[in-house]
Amino acid sequence: MLIKKKLTEKEINELRTPYITDRLLLYLSILILLYFHNLLPNIKTFILLFILSTLHSIIFSWTQHSMLDNKQSLTHVISFIRHHAISFQHHHDNPTDVLYEVPGSKKLPGNIPFTGVKPIVVILTPLMISALIVFFIEKSKFTMQILIFSQMLYLWGYISIRNHVSCHAETHNYPTDRLCDIMRNIGLLPSPLYHRTHHDPTHKTPHEQNWAFIMPYISEKIEYIFKQMGGSESNYAYIMLNILFFIFLPTLFPLYSIIIRQFYK
Ligand SMILES: [Zn+2]
Ligand SMILES: [Zn+2]
Repeated sequence: MLIKKKLTEKEINELRTPYITDRLLLYLSILILLYFHNLLPNIKTFILLFILSTLHSIIFSWTQHSMLDNKQSLTHVISFIRHHAISFQHHHDNPTDVLYEVPGSKKLPGNIPFTGVKPIVVILTPLMISALIVFFIEKSKFTMQILIFSQMLYLWGYISIRNHVSCHAETHNYPTDRLCDIMRNIGLLPSPLYHRTHHDPTHKTPHEQNWAFIMPYISEKIEYIFKQMGGSESNYAYIMLNILFFIFLPTLFPLYSIIIRQFYK
């Protein structure tokens, strides 16, 4: 049951750093695993994987946000889309809820999932586990790259959720999150002001813009194309949004990697 009370600074910091220790242990164990199998990547491969996974994360995070904000998603044929669309759209009208959610509480009123931590557990843990399974089935350079690529998606997912909580917290005078602040200053993450426009009730259509969770500059190019196709009101644009959403859904990545593997053999 949700206890609705204003969070303390310490609790806000817990919201910003969900499962950070687990994550560090996980990365460390993966590096040890790769080291013992002589599969650590060279720097060129590592940079390439970083660029590709960043592009993947930018496209997915923008697509996920605009897809789940769309009114049509409330009656989507797939139940998990409907469920998360309710959650995303609930957040528009109740933006400060992220500052009242007590870490460890499982649900918001009306069965709304916990916005801070739950997506990491629900969406990204299967991604990580399946990538590990792929790795154990076949310990090769290719599976090592899949493993690192999925971990980078996982890291971007984590940092974008952390930044979202931080944006709302800072608007309400909580101290600035140092990590997010550095990343905002070099254009890797949207600022509190950028995200505030998405919630601004004085704006004519606030939830129809500023969907970016990562790199607003690049995300706006996708937003521009989406609006050229007709935007939120258009069925055609919504179909395209669905296609983009499922292509870039991180949970499906290990499945794609098995398919791509067939061409490598
Ligand atoms: Zn939104
Ligand atoms: Zn928000």
